[in-house]
Amino acid sequence: MHKIPLAKLELGHWPTPLEPMLRLNQMHQGPELWVKRDDCSGLAMGGNKTRKLEYLLADAQQQGGTTLLTAGGVQSNHARQTAAAAAKIGLGCELFLEQVDGLGEPDYQHSGNLLLNQLLGARVHQLPAGQNLDEAMALRAQTLTASGQVPYIMPVGGSNVVGAMGYVACGLELAQQMQDQSLTFNAIVLATGSAGTQAGLLAGLALAGLDIPVLGITVSRSSEEQCSKVLALVHEVQDRLSQPHLHEDHVICFDQYYGAGYGQPTQQMVEALRLAASLEGLLLDPVYSGKAFAGLLDLVRHGYFYPSDRVLFLHTGGTPGVFAYSHCLSES
Ligand SMILES: *Cc1c(COP(=O)(O)O)cnc(C)c1O
Repeated sequence: MHKIPLAKLELGHWPTPLEPMLRLNQMHQGPELWVKRDDCSGLAMGGNKTRKLEYLLADAQQQGGTTLLTAGGVQSNHARQTAAAAAKIGLGCELFLEQVDGLGEPDYQHSGNLLLNQLLGARVHQLPAGQNLDEAMALRAQTLTASGQVPYIMPVGGSNVVGAMGYVACGLELAQQMQDQSLTFNAIVLATGSAGTQAGLLAGLALAGLDIPVLGITVSRSSEEQCSKVLALVHEVQDRLSQPHLHEDHVICFDQYYGAGYGQPTQQMVEALRLAASLEGLLLDPVYSGKAFAGLLDLVRHGYFYPSDRVLFLHTGGTPGVFAYSHCLSES
């Protein structure tokens, strides 16, 4: 088995389940759809940031970090999972959360991940939309240093080369599950934002000798911008692993499913959430997995896959987000 040459903490529940979507598959004559349940990864309601945090927090510990700093949108899942990891390890946690235009509803401003950040004991800094989050963190880090703390700054989404190793590990884990269950997949579909998930998974599959297309549904960017972001990180990860670079043809993104912008609800997302919940008992989220699942369903409808294909949806979590969006999900 391949080994990832970086330190890691155990924070999650592995391997995450791999399940067929039986009732959904009965509904259409199409590719067989499966789901990998990274929403069941542990750490305060789960999600894809658990895998990244296992490597990031090991790095923080090696550097003697005492306080974790990270940033994101108001309803950032990465921020909530960082707060949980900090609590579990016994580190301080400060979150720099930026307003998202057009989302001023009370549930968005108080419920979901924000409520959980409070319970998890994190200190939240609220910033207006368009603020430079990196600058705000760097400034705060100076103050913390002056008071004898050792700040450890993580980028938005935890998507640097260290965090992306979590999804290299996911690629290896999936390869093992496929071998154990004699399963093959013709494609993997996931939501792609800060790019660490798609980049790490591509590098991990390559490391395991698997050539499965990974289709990223973008949540805030054009395919072109997203693909170059993913490719740059894949290459950084492969350099760290002393592996040959993947060709850019392996990075595939679709940008027609995120609607008006990051976090902005779409009708297709709401329909995808209802379908997954009512047919599979599966809770998606409004910002990432709901839009990615809407993309998957649309690609299926338009014949993107062969009917004989088996396609895997990576459920990246985000479930607490449904409470922040009750204003557009609730039927009453
Ligand atoms: C952060 C996040 C993603 C996107 O992962 P990246 O590594 O940032 O591309 C997808 N789904 C959920 C629920 C997330 O919180």
